Amino acid sequence: MTGSRSSRPRLAVITGASSGIGAATATRLAQEGFEVVLGARRAERIERLASRIGGRSHPLDVTDDASVEAFCATLDRCDVLVNNAGGAIGLEPVEEADLADWQQMFDTNVLGVARMTRALLPALVASGDGHVVVVGSIAAHEPYPGGAGYNAAKFGVRAVVGVLRQELLGRPVRVTEIDPGMVETEFSLVRFRGDAERASRVYEGMTPLTPEDVADCIAFAVTRPSHVNIDQMIVLARDQAGARTVHRRG
Ligand code: NAP
Repeated sequence: MTGSRSSRPRLAVITGASSGIGAATATRLAQEGFEVVLGARRAERIERLASRIGGRSHPLDVTDDASVEAFCATLDRCDVLVNNAGGAIGLEPVEEADLADWQQMFDTNVLGVARMTRALLPALVASGDGHVVVVGSIAAHEPYPGGAGYNAAKFGVRAVVGVLRQELLGRPVRVTEIDPGMVETEFSLVRFRGDAERASRVYEGMTPLTPEDVADCIAFAVTRPSHVNIDQMIVLARDQAGARTVHRRG
């Protein structure tokens, strides 16, 4: 049980835990012995998952200051914050982009991380062994056509991660960025506004990562000894060699 270093288990908050990578991470960290607190907007889903894995849940919208405050008020401590809530909306070229989508992406992927991290930093520092994990993306490294809004948001959050690591130097908080490539989750369904057929075509003829593969990377990072910081991990499927370089069979 690596989540338990002293008499009580380490507490991990996972945002966006109602599906995909967040749900898999909550499940995995609970298995590793962490006390897990799940946040997302779909309250029923996180309640169900939390009761299955022996954790707690509270509704959370990372774009809403009051919701973040109410969520954090339920915590008496925090050792690990997994900033996972996020995603993409649309795949239109810049000339056709709806900037309301960009605003939503920035609010969730960038400001959401800032809101949660700011709110929980005092507790993370006070824990004496805090850890902030941010789920970024290969999109934070490689721009691709149609990706501008999402690319800009993930490049942006990557900058925040780099700044945080320097600002926290000397304090007992590690900062890790996990940057996956294609993972089969609800990501594409959300990106294509509920168009399931278009979403399934994204993974046609290739083997994407599973949410559990990414949870595995996060679990590895947060279970290293305290003096070890996994700075950044880019994890891609074997069938993917870049943001848009994908090997498809048939
Ligand atoms: P997903 O299945 O769509 O999960 C996204 C999660 O974020 C959901 O639990 C959703 O919950 C939550 N969320 C969205 N907006 C939120 C908000 N305002 N407040 C709180 N929670 C919110 O997709 P996923 O692939 O697991 O995505 C997780 C992270 O991985 C995202 O940051 C995404 O950008 C990143 N990522 C994904 C891929 C991929 O290919 N799948 C690749 C690289 C990076 P509710 O809707 O219930 O709030």
